Amino acid sequence: MKKLLVFVLTFLFVVACAKSPTGRSQFILVDSDTMAQMGLESFEAMKEEQKVSTNKNLNQYVQCVARPILKTLPADWQDGWEIVVFDSEQVNAFALPGRKIGVYTGILGVAENADQLAAIIGHEVGHVIANHGSERVSQSTAANAVMQGASLLSQGSEYQQAIMTGLGLGAQFGVLLPYSRTHESEADVIGLKYLIEAGFKAEESMALWENMNKLGGERPMEFMSTHPAPDTRINNLAKHIESYRSQGVKAQFSRPNCSR
Ligand SMILES: [Zn+2]
Repeated sequence: MKKLLVFVLTFLFVVACAKSPTGRSQFILVDSDTMAQMGLESFEAMKEEQKVSTNKNLNQYVQCVARPILKTLPADWQDGWEIVVFDSEQVNAFALPGRKIGVYTGILGVAENADQLAAIIGHEVGHVIANHGSERVSQSTAANAVMQGASLLSQGSEYQQAIMTGLGLGAQFGVLLPYSRTHESEADVIGLKYLIEAGFKAEESMALWENMNKLGGERPMEFMSTHPAPDTRINNLAKHIESYRSQGVKAQFSRPNCSR
């Protein structure tokens, strides 16, 4: 019994003290396999409930933009991603643990070019690589259920909503919940590095957030300005682009040539 307790405490300690890619300490109780499983199940459900775009040009365009970003990820993160375009006017995009990316056709009107779409995908993938969903679940009551091995997304589970919230998914599919200011800023910084390394124009990320701000009240939750304030966000991007360049971060591949 005592041995078991020591084991459990050690496990908790090891799992709980993680570090994000920017070096921030994280409190993480839910392991990555569990998160991946949760992301996977949610994504399958989303594909069933929402209209998946079969427009060949659009799908090729989104793939063309996303692939170079994925090639810049740490080696064990590069493969096995599924990218789906959802046919919806919503200005939205997301990435889930389990290596799933969803892009709504509505966001293609705001991301005016491939560089801007790459900025969005880089940001979303940044949330996944930095384990933000896991952190969110760990902070909620859902952590108990996950650790007891409760059936995660089974109908009627009292924890279902808490788990979905941790993943950033609202009660209705397609409603994506905002991350905290810390998570948003961190995803911006991480995504920017992918953007530069993939060969896209990093400055377009600033133009993207300006376009997003012009949407006003129609801005999707995930991109709302409450965290961080729009001007702060754009200033931070400029600062980090400069800082990455001075650190010698540069394109690893030739400029992707993606058009719609
Ligand atoms: Zn975000």
